Amino acid sequence: MLDTLRRTIQEVNRAPDLARALSIIVARVKQAMVVDVCSVYLVDDEGKQHVLMATDGYNADAVGEVRLDFGRGLVSEVARREESLNLDNASDHPSYVFTDEIGEEAFHGFLGVPIIQHRKVLGVLVVRQRERRRFAEQEETFLFTLAAQLAGAISHAGASGDITRLLQASDESRYALKGVSGTPGAAVGHAVVVYPLANLEAIPDRAVDDIDAEIANFRAAVAGVERDMRMMSARMVDSLPAEDIALFDALILMLRSENLVDGTLDGIRAGNWAPGALRNTITEHVTAFEDMEDPYLRERASDVRDLGRRILERLQSIVPAVRDFTAGTILVGEEVTASQLAEVPVNSLVGVVSARGSSASHVAILARALGIPAVMGIDDLPVGRLDGQELVVDGYQSRLFVRPSQAIRKEFQRLQQEEAELTDELQKLIELSSETLDGTCVPLHANTGLLSDITPSLRCGAEGIGLYRTEVPFMIRDRFPGEEEQRRTYRQVLEAFAPAPVTVRTLDIGGDKRLPYFPVEEENPFLGWRGIRIALDHPEIFLIQVRAILRADAGLGNLQLLLPMISSVHEIDAALGLIRRAFDELVDEGEALVFPKIGVMIEVPSAIYQIPAMAKRVDFFSIGTNDLTQYLLAVDRNNAQVAELFEALHPAVLRAIRQVIEQAHAVERPVSVCGEMAGDPAAALLLLAMGVDSLSMSAASLLRVKWAIRSFSMEAVGRLLDEAWEFEDAGAVRALLHNALEDAGLGGLVRAGR
Ligand code: PEP
Ligand code: MG
Repeated sequence: MLDTLRRTIQEVNRAPDLARALSIIVARVKQAMVVDVCSVYLVDDEGKQHVLMATDGYNADAVGEVRLDFGRGLVSEVARREESLNLDNASDHPSYVFTDEIGEEAFHGFLGVPIIQHRKVLGVLVVRQRERRRFAEQEETFLFTLAAQLAGAISHAGASGDITRLLQASDESRYALKGVSGTPGAAVGHAVVVYPLANLEAIPDRAVDDIDAEIANFRAAVAGVERDMRMMSARMVDSLPAEDIALFDALILMLRSENLVDGTLDGIRAGNWAPGALRNTITEHVTAFEDMEDPYLRERASDVRDLGRRILERLQSIVPAVRDFTAGTILVGEEVTASQLAEVPVNSLVGVVSARGSSASHVAILARALGIPAVMGIDDLPVGRLDGQELVVDGYQSRLFVRPSQAIRKEFQRLQQEEAELTDELQKLIELSSETLDGTCVPLHANTGLLSDITPSLRCGAEGIGLYRTEVPFMIRDRFPGEEEQRRTYRQVLEAFAPAPVTVRTLDIGGDKRLPYFPVEEENPFLGWRGIRIALDHPEIFLIQVRAILRADAGLGNLQLLLPMISSVHEIDAALGLIRRAFDELVDEGEALVFPKIGVMIEVPSAIYQIPAMAKRVDFFSIGTNDLTQYLLAVDRNNAQVAELFEALHPAVLRAIRQVIEQAHAVERPVSVCGEMAGDPAAALLLLAMGVDSLSMSAASLLRVKWAIRSFSMEAVGRLLDEAWEFEDAGAVRALLHNALEDAGLGGLVRAGR
């Protein structure tokens, strides 16, 4: 059973379209379960019907014709209860309705399971038997597992318009691909798929013009791999027995095999680029081997995969990894990284779409900083088929349209227009102070990481930089930057804002911020070697950075230093020791420096309970609500599966923030909030009421938050906060705040929030 399951799933995943995937499923299930009929019904929401989409056993003409109204019959019963139904005689069940077109009277046994994706029933998978038959538990779970797999294929089909065609439905918005979160905004553009090097599965199809050059690249890559193999075999000849050495010869034979080479060449001649054509041939071969009965031959699948990866590596040193990014680029990938985003010229980039991640991922934070709409966590994104396709990114509702109709394109162009008008409207606030109706001022600072986002930060009237994420300049290089190189980078930011404060955070790598040249492999990176922990274990890296930051401040004096991921006071003591040492050395070297204010990020729950001890050591606190939320709620900020649980307005997070502010104020230390929460106009109202001293956010959010602050009095936000404490879940708090914004005439800000 397991074997059949695995093979069927592979076949389904390889199917070129939904119709084919469904017919594979019904045929394989019928065979494996030895039943008389297997069928798939899909939900047509518009027509409120279950439509027979594929069958092996019933009359093939019934496909697309048999439509069962919601609420009638056993298929509806399975969908309604979201549970399987296992009956030895279908007509005994009270919900049974006889369907003439499929000659149903001849069948007794019935097993139906729902096809569910993201809590939504997409259809029902049914098997029938002429005789009475009660299916075994194992058979039921077999069908369940296939149904779960089919759910992914159906969502894929939604993206390519397959379902719309199959159901002849007209409402394409129902079949947009749904992500779990994003950054607000709308974008219309074309996909440029980015992928990690040497990951064959992630390679997209891509059209080429110069076929001869592509063929030459491919042949050179194969020849290169063959040379590598020969060298490896020669190196091993003394240390391996002859039969193992023969393995290399077998690999070389495989490499030269007509199937592998000619298959790829055919793909290239058909217009695909070499990596895409190679991916197809390798996948076919891998499957062929995996399907073999002989366990030894089945194992060869991994050799083919390995050969594929080696050829790809070679190809990638010949073919540039990404093509030029033209205007209107929407960056698409399995897991788009912050560094991939940073590689695209800001003027060309209009959107980001990632199969993994959430709005708290660093790539989403960067996108927000640049004012670029993003959709994160579309786990069924058909990445391989998207390169060059026209896309519409709906960052408000976390949706993606592939090859949109003219109506959808127009609708989103209109939204873009409205957004631009709101932005124009907001420009009027630039010169105005960030103060409430009753005169309380809350400075708004900008978060930055890339030099290219200093300008928007200046333009939006930020009163300083509340968080400079220094890891970003580290992420876009291929080695650690040197002291002078770093100094110049930091200096530009400090100078641009002087005399306003610039809070520079020391290197916060680890977690989802990996440096390509400093690999850290961990099972649980967010609970691992991260932030200050790496810095203290590598004082040489930390000292160079601190020296560079301190020198960048020479003659300016607007620097504040911020330490990330602090969980214990001894980390502060150790870091302060190193900072003091760097400072003294620099003063000895003749630099004109003032010792900067030092602050600690409150982003690990243990820090909440050590505020008085920390306050003895440092000058200010900055709450990192992204990590604080992740760690308090035990919700991975990058995991699309749980992204809906990631909620900074959760009562527990709000209480933690209140506790930090109260305790810090008791010992006269200011508190800022620099996580994404600060840039959400609704959440900012609560932070204001809790008495936060400043807020730091992406430049794109700043004027929106200022608009919200200028529209309320402290008294009004105090009342909102009092009400919010009464609620037991985040949804109610959000609804309260959204209503308040709407009532104050700031409905436009609600759309920009979540
Ligand atoms: C945070 O954790 O809230 C924060 C501001 O830091 P980062 O997002 O860079 O981890
Ligand atoms: Mg953090």
